[in-house]
Amino acid sequence: MNINALDAFTTDLFEKLFTAKKDGAPSDAERKAIAELFRHAEAEKLTAPIVALFSALEKFHNDQGFTPEQLGITRDALTALAVKHEGIDEHRVTVGGRVGRALPIVDAAQSRVREYLDRHPKEAPSGIEVWDRMLENQKRIKNVLSMSDDDWNSYSGQLRHAIEDVATLSKVIDLPAKAIEDVLRVTKTYRMRLTPYYASLILPGQINDPVLLQSVPTGEMVDNAGVEIPPVAADHSPARLIDQFYPRVVTIKATNMCAMYCTHCLRIAHIGAKDRLYGKDAYGEALDYIRANPEIRDVLVTGGDSLVLPNSMLEWLLGQLDAIEHVRMKRLGTRIPVTTPQRIDNELLDILEASNDKKPLRVVTQINTAQEITPVSKAAFQAISKRVAAVMNQAVLLKGINDSSVKMWKLCETIQEAYVRPYYVFNCSYRNPQFKHLRVPVAVGQSIVESMYGNISGDAIPRYIATAGGKIPLHRTNVLEHCQGHVKMQKPWSGEQVTYPDPEPQEYARQDFGFAKYEK
Ligand code: SF4
Repeated sequence: MNINALDAFTTDLFEKLFTAKKDGAPSDAERKAIAELFRHAEAEKLTAPIVALFSALEKFHNDQGFTPEQLGITRDALTALAVKHEGIDEHRVTVGGRVGRALPIVDAAQSRVREYLDRHPKEAPSGIEVWDRMLENQKRIKNVLSMSDDDWNSYSGQLRHAIEDVATLSKVIDLPAKAIEDVLRVTKTYRMRLTPYYASLILPGQINDPVLLQSVPTGEMVDNAGVEIPPVAADHSPARLIDQFYPRVVTIKATNMCAMYCTHCLRIAHIGAKDRLYGKDAYGEALDYIRANPEIRDVLVTGGDSLVLPNSMLEWLLGQLDAIEHVRMKRLGTRIPVTTPQRIDNELLDILEASNDKKPLRVVTQINTAQEITPVSKAAFQAISKRVAAVMNQAVLLKGINDSSVKMWKLCETIQEAYVRPYYVFNCSYRNPQFKHLRVPVAVGQSIVESMYGNISGDAIPRYIATAGGKIPLHRTNVLEHCQGHVKMQKPWSGEQVTYPDPEPQEYARQDFGFAKYEK
């Protein structure tokens, strides 16, 4: 058998293994262990025993300097096994490539995620992982609020028992007296509402719990200096209820209500002090605008939260949009599957599916921590995902809530496992002083998002976006240099530089390609 018939990886590996580094003889036990691996590699028609033998020989060589011959294996016998390996492998991968290159590369890659794997259960547990603790909270909250099981398991029960005042809040969540005073102060200006379900996701024992920070206002909301610049003001609203930043996409702000009011709400100015239901005349004007502008293709129905609309109104609105020929897609913006998943019942799912059957309907949600994904919200997302074209998440990067690689990786992986696609992560808006204490520097977000490349599934990596009169991508470039005929780039996960050949401009400019060559 000729080793030269094998690839360079294998000849390199042989050269290394057969270069003696140490005189003397291995122990009987060491020779016996290698003999056993050799016996398996010869006897079995599999690649793994051959890989195990070569890996063990390489380890002996690295650690102790012994050659295969010193361990009782001849060069010919090993060559025969290398040839056998290549013959078995469907893709003709050689044992040299596998042992000398692929396994060390995988090992190095694994070392990049080891820290995350060690830290995420403690630093960023999902609601599924701490569900037992949440169930204890549920029991306690149900008791305090005198809620029956039916109340707890229904959307109307959750809304009826929503926590909107300090007295109820302090019965449900154990907060320092000064924090309670501040909630009282802030809620004179801004609304607070947590459903009992969402309150049960707050884990006692950590003062800046990420669910607590998102839902219970702190003094900064009124103390922060600055003037609010409403994000979607008159200059972006060409018609009643409509916002428009782009030529082919519009938003209908279909309600000012949400099942839970977030402390980082971009639309805090629109939420106002009171829930308001809008009439068909208001929607009618918005629909007239869409009908009159045939370039509009994609309509986002949001709020507030689009899923607080009664089913009859939602069905009517989606039906109106489906009837407009040039509207090709719809989106619903909602946080309800994480704040009040009890809303997701069969009647609603049937409405979503019927509209999706006419034209694609996507559900766009906002989940900011893995802690918000519980068995209940995951089931809600699974049910929605079976009925619509896509469920996508727009997270907001928030200090103390998700501003670390561990927290953001965990969020993106957890929601992906809950049938939701990580889509955007927004740098928290500069326009609202109310929550400037939750803002995270742009560069921190870049490092977090960049750390995902090469380490988690590509479709779990969101785009990092600033909203500044429209969405502006914030990703750093990994292209270092454009040269004649190639581009110099770096791998975001390791910094390793690679040269990437670019097509020649003259070649790209040629039009006589493909079937054009055959033109008569
Ligand atoms: S659900 Fe959305 S609109 Fe409602 S308060 Fe939260 S961020 Fe604002």
